[in-house]
Amino acid sequence: MSDDQTCQRCGETVELSQEDFELFERMHPDCFHYAFEHDVNKPGLAEDEDCGDPACPSAV
Ligand SMILES: [Zn+2]
Ligand SMILES: [Zn+2]
Repeated sequence: MSDDQTCQRCGETVELSQEDFELFERMHPDCFHYAFEHDVNKPGLAEDEDCGDPACPSAV
């Protein structure tokens, strides 16, 4: 068992419990959103644009 949790998307360390880390496919919650949810409704949407999801990291 390792406590070295590295995001599969951005390569940064992820500060989550191992359970949550696995839940987010070994990514940050934000990276998971970008990878799997962000452009579902608007394919090709840029990461810095709000996709309309209340959880979107790009929403202000
Ligand atoms: Zn990440
Ligand atoms: Zn989004």
